[in-house]
Amino acid sequence: MNYKKNNFHIENIPIEKIAKKFGTPTYCYSLSTIKKNIKKFKNNFKTINPLICFSVKSNSNLFILKEIKKMGVGADVVSKGELLIALKAGINPKKIVFSGVGKTYEELKFAIEKKILLINVESESELNQIEKISKIKKRKIDVGLRLNPNIDAKTLKKISTGKNEEKFGLIQKSFLKIIEKFKNSKNLKIKCLSVHIGSQITNHRPYEKMLNVLSSVIKKADYNFEYIDLGGGMGIKYNENTKVLNYKKYNSIIKKFLNKNKTKIILEPGRSIVGNSGLLLTKIIYIKETNKINFVILDAAMNDLIRPALYGSKHRIIASKLNRKIKRKKHEFVGPICETTDKFLSLSKFQSLKEKDILAICDVGAYGMVLSSNYNLRTKPAEILINKFSLKTITRRQKLNTII
Ligand SMILES: *Cc1c(COP(=O)(O)O)cnc(C)c1O
Repeated sequence: MNYKKNNFHIENIPIEKIAKKFGTPTYCYSLSTIKKNIKKFKNNFKTINPLICFSVKSNSNLFILKEIKKMGVGADVVSKGELLIALKAGINPKKIVFSGVGKTYEELKFAIEKKILLINVESESELNQIEKISKIKKRKIDVGLRLNPNIDAKTLKKISTGKNEEKFGLIQKSFLKIIEKFKNSKNLKIKCLSVHIGSQITNHRPYEKMLNVLSSVIKKADYNFEYIDLGGGMGIKYNENTKVLNYKKYNSIIKKFLNKNKTKIILEPGRSIVGNSGLLLTKIIYIKETNKINFVILDAAMNDLIRPALYGSKHRIIASKLNRKIKRKKHEFVGPICETTDKFLSLSKFQSLKEKDILAICDVGAYGMVLSSNYNLRTKPAEILINKFSLKTITRRQKLNTII
């Protein structure tokens, strides 16, 4: 994605053309970026040969999942819906893991019937529920246990998941108690220890601490896990000043861990596979100038992309047409929704803009469309997949009459 002759392109197509053809707001994704990310990810972890399970919650579009499947990647799902769509994309159940603190009886039963690789259990009550199903089905069920390692992932508070005050996983004491109680169970086979300490992690140190905790817990449990599932969370570069995770270092810490613990590694990347592949195209409805602020009112809003409002995250904004003329005034890029938090970005200057111009909000491939809603009774955007010169509608724009 870059400017060619002053026109911003996604692969070989000017985004202005996509906006004209499909309207706005519209999500569009670069397939080659997704493929590149997967190749890079595999390469970075080549020496530990992990099972890679794409975190479906970051982007659950069927066509994108199909492409990811073609590259041999499995899935990490967190609901029956995500499990269904992963299967529909053709992903082998033996490459699917199921996480989440509140899986219902119905969801567990469905996952068991589909014979997925692992259900990563997060409470003793959930384990009892699975045992019940196991007895009914007269089958031994493979499970993982999710440990809450009490690690600060040093990321945004709202996307941190590995501390004891957060709802995820089992605290060490419960974890060890469950191993003791179920290690010889006829109904359950504990195959995996899983963790996931948070998202958008840009430093390897939290991961290092996490692996140290794992080593110590494994020792205390005195139990052989066939798999260690390290979750996802690898951060991406949203801005010039965000650091990126040092994959080499992370890989080498895992290698060190494997020297002490013989096991197979599972990784569950989401954002790092799709995050930088997506743009949200939007049109300027109005520009409203006040004494101090230039409000750029877009046709995309927090219902289309909630990350800035929900987490305070900052996504770059670029214009479809490059204009060297700069306007030095505070710019606020906002949506039409009646909420003060419906704001994407504040900048002290931007290139000169006019109404009807097309802009793109960048790096929205992960936790973008999946978090969209119908707030203010607005329809959800369309999604377009770009492959070199070709465009494919992978989600049609929602119509008002389907929600009214
Ligand atoms: C959200 C989530 C992931 C993916 O996190 P990313 O930051 O997108 O890589 C992986 N595993 C679990 C259990 C999750 O909840």
